[in-house]
Amino acid sequence: MRALILSDIHANLEALEAVLSDAQDRGGFDVIWCLGDTVGYGPDPAACIDRIREFELVAVAGNHDHAAVGLIDASDFNEAAEFAANWTSEQVGSEQRDYLKSLPFVSVQDQFTLVHGSLRDPIGEYLLDRNSAAGTLALMETKYCVVGHSHIPFLCCEIEEDPENPEFTEFPENEQVALDHERRIINPGGVGQPRDRDSRPSYAIFNSEQNAIQRHRVTYNITKTQEKMKAADLPVRLIDRLDHGI
Ligand code: ZN
Repeated sequence: MRALILSDIHANLEALEAVLSDAQDRGGFDVIWCLGDTVGYGPDPAACIDRIREFELVAVAGNHDHAAVGLIDASDFNEAAEFAANWTSEQVGSEQRDYLKSLPFVSVQDQFTLVHGSLRDPIGEYLLDRNSAAGTLALMETKYCVVGHSHIPFLCCEIEEDPENPEFTEFPENEQVALDHERRIINPGGVGQPRDRDSRPSYAIFNSEQNAIQRHRVTYNITKTQEKMKAADLPVRLIDRLDHGI
C-alpha cells in the first residue's frame, strides 16, 4: 500500500496538481492521507476539496478548514488570514461545507495517527519543539504520527532512554527513510504554502511493503496561482510569500 501524505494544500490548485502528477510519476498511490488545511489563503478552495475527494481519501481537520465553516472564529487569525478565511467561506458550496464540517480531528490508519497540529491540541498547537513533540509522543497509541500545521518538514524520533527529549532531524529529500522500531512524528511539509524558505510544494509517500517513507518536492506555476489571488483581491502579503516559501 502506498499512501500519499499531503498537508496544508491551502487552496493552491496548481501546487496540488503538480504534487499529484509527480506522485503518479513516482509509482502512484492507493490513498491520500490529508493532514488538514485544504483551504484558506489560496484562490481555489472548492476545486481543491473536489480534487482530493476524487481519490481514496482519509482526511483530518485543520484550523483553516474549521474557520472557513465557522467552527472556529477567524478573528483569532492575523488580518490577512482572517480576510482569506472570510473570502474562503463565500467560495465553498454546501456540499464542500458539509465535507469540511465532517472532518475528524484525529484518524488512526494502522500504525499511523493523522492529526493537523498535535495530539494535545489537534488544530491549535504547532509541533516544533521537544516539549510539544514529547506531549504528542506521550499520547500516541500508534508507532508513528503524521502532522502538518507548521508547513515545515521534519522527522522527530523518540529516544527510549530520554522520552522527554525527542530528537528532531531533517527530513531529507528523495531519500528512503526506513521506519524502524523507534516511535516517530513526521511532518511532510506544506503543499500550498511552504514555509521552510523553499517555495516548492513538499509531500511524502509512505510505502507499507518497504515500511519506509520518502519526501519529495516539485515546482509549479506560482505565477498562475498569484494571478488568481490578485484577481480575487486576496491580500498582497499572502501572494508575495509564495515566492519565498515563508
Ligand atoms: Zn496551514
